[in-house]
Amino acid sequence: MKTLSIIVPCYEEEDALPLFYPAVKKVLDTMKDIKPEFWFVNDGSSDNTLAEMKKLHKANPDEAHYISFSRNFGKESALYAGLQASTGDYVVVMDADLQDPPKFLPEMVKYLESGKYDCVGTRRVDRKGEAKIKSFFSNAFYGFINHISKTQIVSGARDFRMMTRQMVNAVLSMKEYSRFSKGIFSWVGFKTKYLDYHNVERVAGKSDWSTLQLFKYAFSGIADFSQAPLNIAVWLGGVSSILSIIGLIVVLVRHIINPASAVFGWASTISIILLIGGLQLLCIGIIGRYIGKIFLQVKNRPIYIVKEKA
Ligand code: UDP
Ligand code: MG
Repeated sequence: MKTLSIIVPCYEEEDALPLFYPAVKKVLDTMKDIKPEFWFVNDGSSDNTLAEMKKLHKANPDEAHYISFSRNFGKESALYAGLQASTGDYVVVMDADLQDPPKFLPEMVKYLESGKYDCVGTRRVDRKGEAKIKSFFSNAFYGFINHISKTQIVSGARDFRMMTRQMVNAVLSMKEYSRFSKGIFSWVGFKTKYLDYHNVERVAGKSDWSTLQLFKYAFSGIADFSQAPLNIAVWLGGVSSILSIIGLIVVLVRHIINPASAVFGWASTISIILLIGGLQLLCIGIIGRYIGKIFLQVKNRPIYIVKEKA
């Protein structure tokens, strides 16, 4: 008999939770040699998510557990808290909105039991119901990060994945403050099997990812797993230095040959000053983002704070 921990990060999921639990239970009931253990993590929801969790816990005290944060810390922190609390031989991470189809659970367990894989992940093969522009940027992001980072990130991979205890312990050993799970799961290595599936709509509630947030998330992920933007800054600086030296030589030579031409070129001078100034600010900005990450890391703050747990 193996224990399966199911980790569910929840933010404003009062409508989805009552649908999620029975849907997953229905699948678990068909899995005879698996003992489930649920860890619902309330990520500082302002609705009745915690009350719904308490209801589930009261009805199934040995099986449904919850952790409630003191405020919203983000999904990545909720995942970390759930992984830390889990005790199962296998651990699966699922969204509360049933966008991660529970019907995959038996197949995932089968792959892990076979001993050939340490992790079974899922990958969306289409992006139905998503704006074209969003898909475009998302593809560009995966192309870029896989090009510049040694940590490969599978396009369309969801956080929905089942891992062995050994891999969970590896993930837990990464205590970094800025947590980009897609990168962390890939960084720890191990053998991962990907199952493909078609996009499913949320059962209830709404996703509150704005385009701006997705951009921030993308940049943050890149900065967490690559130093390429710093190299870009170095290259920009190097190229513009070389160009200015060439420009200087041209100006000097022209001045020696024909001193009268000196006043020519005010517009080009101003544009070049603006360009160089812009590049400098860009590079300082990139460096600043990394320093910001270092700043947060060295303060060594906890990744989450628990208010209630049962
Ligand atoms: N979530 C969370 N904290 C947050 C935002 C989201 O724990 O600050 C949870 C949310 O309840 C859900 C999962 O993370 O179970 C995925 O969120 P969502 O469905 O909004 O994202 P999407 O599926 O659009 O990627
Ligand atoms: Mg969702």
